[in-house]
Amino acid sequence: MSTGRSSEMIREFVANNRKLFEESNEKFIYAIGLALCFLAHAAYLIMFIILKVKEMLYFNIFSVAFYLALVILIMTLRKGKDILICAASTEIIVHAAMATYLMGWAPDFGILLIVLIPILFLMMKGKLLVPYIYSALAMGTFIWLRVRNIHHAVLKYDFGDNGIINALYILNALIGVLALVYTLTVYMLNRVDMEYRLTAQSEEFKKAASIDPLTQLFNRRAMNEKIREIRRNSATPRSRYVIGIGDIDNFKKINDTYGHDTGDKVLVYVANLFISMIPEGGYAARWGGEEFLFVLPESQIVDGLDFTDQMHKSLRAHTFEIDDCLFGVTMTFGVSEGIPTDKIDTVITHADKRLYKGKNNGKNHTEYTD
Ligand code: GH3
Ligand code: MG
Ligand code: MG
Repeated sequence: MSTGRSSEMIREFVANNRKLFEESNEKFIYAIGLALCFLAHAAYLIMFIILKVKEMLYFNIFSVAFYLALVILIMTLRKGKDILICAASTEIIVHAAMATYLMGWAPDFGILLIVLIPILFLMMKGKLLVPYIYSALAMGTFIWLRVRNIHHAVLKYDFGDNGIINALYILNALIGVLALVYTLTVYMLNRVDMEYRLTAQSEEFKKAASIDPLTQLFNRRAMNEKIREIRRNSATPRSRYVIGIGDIDNFKKINDTYGHDTGDKVLVYVANLFISMIPEGGYAARWGGEEFLFVLPESQIVDGLDFTDQMHKSLRAHTFEIDDCLFGVTMTFGVSEGIPTDKIDTVITHADKRLYKGKNNGKNHTEYTD
């Protein structure tokens, strides 16, 4: 699926601003929304002072104080966010109803009743019924006002075709659309954030399912997949690959003598040796307890022997010094060669048999024949 540049930018923004999406910052999102309500009502207050609509003037003095209180409450309260949204929604419905009742349809306060509906559905996360109840209230109020207006109700404040009524109409339209844009932007960013989290989580799960937690090498499952991939990608049907299995010699004794933790450290050391020594294109995995499997694509037995020789040399040259204990570690390897048409299990079984032949022949070397 191709993604546009702008959606890529949004994704980048979400990835680079993780702090913004922490749960503790959620209250800022609501606080900004309520602060915008505060500003909108301050603008209404000025308009009603100019128009001398007494009832709405008093109402908006209350509203300005009300939203200021809501901003403070949302920043300080830990819970009860939904109740504050309900309180704000009630104010919006009463405000729109009162203004339309007094001044008629011309300033179009009805727009706010419609805009309120999607906003409630996007903001109310926990309460399933509340958005439906408020939608019914907003729609009911809208229809009642519209019907009343169509039947030429006598208005207390009839300004006719007044320029200031047009300004009020534009203000209502702006407030309605801005509120919607603000909520939808928050919603969109939250959705991208959710996608980001899910992708990160699925990467983690994938990693956990394919990486051995102690050694950070591939586990058996991931290695089987890797070998299958190598066979599929072989340059020619006669391309050869090498599989080798290495097992730490007398590992049980290391555990018994120096403790399980020391045994773990040895495993990590050997794993890191594999990581640093494996030829380019090759892979190593923890195949079992103290058993490692490696695969070298586009290689022959001799390449496998070169690699295990390097491993033997490095191990011989290293003295483990763990918790004041000095000791050395050796490994035995069995290596075999396969072509893409060979069954994986057969090639692995060959390497395994050679490994056990090696164990019976004195350990600490590599076997490559049956
Ligand atoms: P050989 O030379 O024939 O391979 O003998 P060995 O002692 O290495 O082999 P054996 O199979 O008798 O013992 C392997 C031991 O590895 C037994 C098991 O407790 C230990 N082991 C398996 N997984 C772990 C692990 O994750 N950490 C530690 N410390 N030990 C492990
Ligand atoms: Mg062993
Ligand atoms: Mg073993």
